[in-house]
Amino acid sequence: MNVHISPAIIMRIKEFGESDLLVTFFTSDSGRLKGIAKGGRKSQKRFANCLDLFCLANLEYELKRKGDLHFLHSCKLFHAFPGLRSDFTSLSLASYMIELTEILFPLGVTDKEMFELLKNAFLALNEGGKTDILRILFEAKAMALGGYKINLDKCCGCGRLYAGEGMAVFKRSKGGIACLKCEQESELSPALSMDSVKALKIIQSTPWSQAKASDLNNEMIREIKPVLKLHMEYRIGRRLKTAEYLD
Ligand SMILES: [Zn+2]
Repeated sequence: MNVHISPAIIMRIKEFGESDLLVTFFTSDSGRLKGIAKGGRKSQKRFANCLDLFCLANLEYELKRKGDLHFLHSCKLFHAFPGLRSDFTSLSLASYMIELTEILFPLGVTDKEMFELLKNAFLALNEGGKTDILRILFEAKAMALGGYKINLDKCCGCGRLYAGEGMAVFKRSKGGIACLKCEQESELSPALSMDSVKALKIIQSTPWSQAKASDLNNEMIREIKPVLKLHMEYRIGRRLKTAEYLD
């Protein structure tokens, strides 16, 4: 017997057989896992209100002898995040966050910081935080954790250090910024003001609480949004399925 107990966020649930549930969950200890909740569709006792989409629960699970499937033994609810289901935009953004996490973190890849990010983003969304800001924070931080941090330190063309003065443009093939001598602003190379570069830097590299306080104004949101869109589509190779509900 090798039973694990870990906080986990429920990412997906599917009916399985006559009375079971197939659950995908993201743990802080072992990354994303899949498990069977035996009798999960009926057993209110062991899985009381926990096996719902987006729930944060303490899960007790054990690896089956073969394959990468687990058995879920029981769970205890920490947070149901009702606000995530209260309106279409919140629901879409929460689903989008799940999809991006799945893409960046394959089954079994552990990243405690990613778990914390997803949890913090859900908490903020549940409290009614502004969805366009939360989306930017989550995208930039998740991409950075997944190994795709945007290089904001120097021009990706001439290598000149970005001193935090003047405009820069984003170059998606380099995953970084370029100075205006090296690159012209265009639809594929959108401009970033000094304030936007600074804010993006803080978001990418500081803990959630600090990043959350980065005070994005409408102008910064307007600039950063297309940069992250281009960056993600280029690195991931496609648009997220859930993105269409948000745009
Ligand atoms: Zn340059």
